[in-house]
Amino acid sequence: MKINGKTRVCGLIGKPVEHTMSPVIHNSLSEELGMDLTYVPFLVEEDLKAAVCGAYALNLLGLNITVPYKEEVLNYIGEIDPLAKQIGAVNTLVRKKDGFKGYNTDITGLYRAMQSEGIHLSGESVILLGAGGAARSVACLCSHYHAEKVYLLNRTIEKAEEIAKEINGLTARELVIPMGLTEYEKLPEKKMLCIQASSVGLAPHTEDVIIEDPAFYERIHTGYDLIYRPANTKFMRLVREHGGQAYHGLKMLLYQGIEAYELWNDIQVEDTLCNEIYELMKGEMGIEE
Ligand code: NAP
Repeated sequence: MKINGKTRVCGLIGKPVEHTMSPVIHNSLSEELGMDLTYVPFLVEEDLKAAVCGAYALNLLGLNITVPYKEEVLNYIGEIDPLAKQIGAVNTLVRKKDGFKGYNTDITGLYRAMQSEGIHLSGESVILLGAGGAARSVACLCSHYHAEKVYLLNRTIEKAEEIAKEINGLTARELVIPMGLTEYEKLPEKKMLCIQASSVGLAPHTEDVIIEDPAFYERIHTGYDLIYRPANTKFMRLVREHGGQAYHGLKMLLYQGIEAYELWNDIQVEDTLCNEIYELMKGEMGIEE
């Protein structure tokens, strides 16, 4: 693209940022849509406040925020979207009159990715593995879209209990049931949607899986792994071996980017273009299926 005096700038703030896929998503969208907008990663070593204030002063249109700043950045924004507020973390900042407004497109992107695969949450019983930042956001999403029950299994049960207490307090019902990782035998005897939101199986530890017992996988009709490196985790393989459908997290990454781009530009990106960008991302990652 040709940069000129009117070119708008968006960027990514995080540490590290070297391996990000976001420039592929946003610069390809700008190219395909003929938008005069460029996207640049910014490594922020420590002074997040100076980075966010500086970006606003430099007239940036928007930012993505990644690890480790998704919570800390709440201190430096003017406004926050209600769902992002409930989650307590933002990954997208949109320029407004008096400062940036924060959104969480990680989670709305996951919802859109699941919808694109025909996976719904309303009325579903969900097994949620892990109780870190990602799992907490998924639990909020399950509450927002009226899941029936969320069985939250984590190695450190106290963390699962904390999330359950918080979400159940907000929903005023026993939506989230906290359980230890070894307690899966107590799950109801039916097939369920399982969202794998732990970091077990992430490259380079690709042969690790959070629960080894094949009997566990008999309870899953659909397995959604938030991990996308690798694109075929052992969790996904075990789900498929037991007759379930399995998905990786690359579409979640795609749609968090699409939703951020839509917020920055106040547009809707057509499905065909989303699919084109997804193919580009798969190409970057060497995924063939
Ligand atoms: P996090 O806050 O560090 O949480 C990690 C979770 O994994 C915790 O529940 C932890 O259990 C569990 N865990 C780690 N090692 C374990 C082990 N050896 N055995 C059992 N459990 C273990 O991480 P996060 O930010 O929530 O991210 C979780 C995953 O989601 C990561 O793989 C990340 O790549 C993925 N993610 C994907 C996208 C996407 O766009 N596709 C976006 C965000 C995140 P304890 O509580 O017991 O430590």
